[in-house]
Amino acid sequence: MHRFDGDLTRQEGLPDAAIERAVALLRNGRLHRYQTGDAESEAAALEREFAAWQGAPYCLACTSGGYALFLALKAYGLTAGQRVLTNAYTLAPVPGAIVHAGGEPVLVECDGDTVIDLADLERKIQASGARVLMLSHMRGHLVDMDALMALINAHGVDLIEDCAHTMGARWNGERSGNFGLAACFSTQTYKHINSGEGGLLVTRDADLLARATVLSGSYMLYERHGAGPDATAFAGARYEMPNCSGRLDELRAAILRPQLPALDAQVDRWARRYRAMEAVLQRDPTLRLRTRPDAEHFVGSSLQFRLPSFDRDACQALVAAARERGVELKWFGAEEPHGYTSQHSSWRYMATQTLPETGRVLSTLFDLRIPLTVSEDDCRLIGEIIASCVESVSP
Ligand SMILES: *Cc1c(COP(=O)(O)O)cnc(C)c1O
Repeated sequence: MHRFDGDLTRQEGLPDAAIERAVALLRNGRLHRYQTGDAESEAAALEREFAAWQGAPYCLACTSGGYALFLALKAYGLTAGQRVLTNAYTLAPVPGAIVHAGGEPVLVECDGDTVIDLADLERKIQASGARVLMLSHMRGHLVDMDALMALINAHGVDLIEDCAHTMGARWNGERSGNFGLAACFSTQTYKHINSGEGGLLVTRDADLLARATVLSGSYMLYERHGAGPDATAFAGARYEMPNCSGRLDELRAAILRPQLPALDAQVDRWARRYRAMEAVLQRDPTLRLRTRPDAEHFVGSSLQFRLPSFDRDACQALVAAARERGVELKWFGAEEPHGYTSQHSSWRYMATQTLPETGRVLSTLFDLRIPLTVSEDDCRLIGEIIASCVESVSP
């Protein structure tokens, strides 16, 4: 019986350049982004470099991905009680950010491929009157972005993208995050560049970025940012926006910068691991994996599969059998929230919503992370372990 002895939660260490910069900063104590006077801060340099890498005119660094989502909505001009469409299948920081910004989430069904269901999106746009969609590219799966943009443009709905799982992904060659009015990224340890915690907001809208910058707690020092609009864009924002402190510190910016030039190569390393595991799992017809569309260049930092023929007992048995053999599977069908998985029915701070299709999909949906510390051989082994556990517990 094969067993996986590795650790699916362990990330790679940081590059030497990141460690050296961090040590230099710790020695001189200049950890605040506005402490560097006229010299460019690490945070400002990160904003400039991330904007260039992403191909977005403006970028603001902040404390977390969830905070970036909150900033985007507030700076967009969300008013108290305003409805915000979002995926019912996402992680808890997304509805959390909507509620934090004073909005009311309107949940949209996912389809069998776990992306947002465009027919249900159209129904919900019409029924709710909502004018903004916070689209979560959940687990790195991109919906047909051409169809999505056509639909929301036809209805005059604005788009804010949650790119926590798509930093480095593309649709038809365009980077995920460049489709909407604004996009938010996370630099939390389990995402694609790692500073423990951290967030990045990008946009083409100078006014939105100006408002977000003042909101993030700029103490009127917004001219010291690396990819912000010029001072004229702040004429109104500097008086109209409250300070909701959530700045990124120098230490985290400093350790992120050396990771950025390597990111596209890391995406290729993730793809090889994903494809290695997928190739093994595809041999078993009970397991449903998403066929990745040609237009989608994805980041394979996690893998999902469904087992439509499984009941709840079989799902639980699979999680237990895989755990016995060293593979920690997450199951999105559990009634109680566990770790990062939760269902919308657990988000009791919002109005109860009925989403039968999402419930059906999540009831047999499994997930596992693929950190870069696991090799391609490890991925094949994990695939074999999962396939053999599926066979042994199959109802
Ligand atoms: C991680 C995550 C976020 C937010 O990230 P934090 O930096 O942890 O706040 C947003 N959306 C999704 C789907 C995520 O997984």
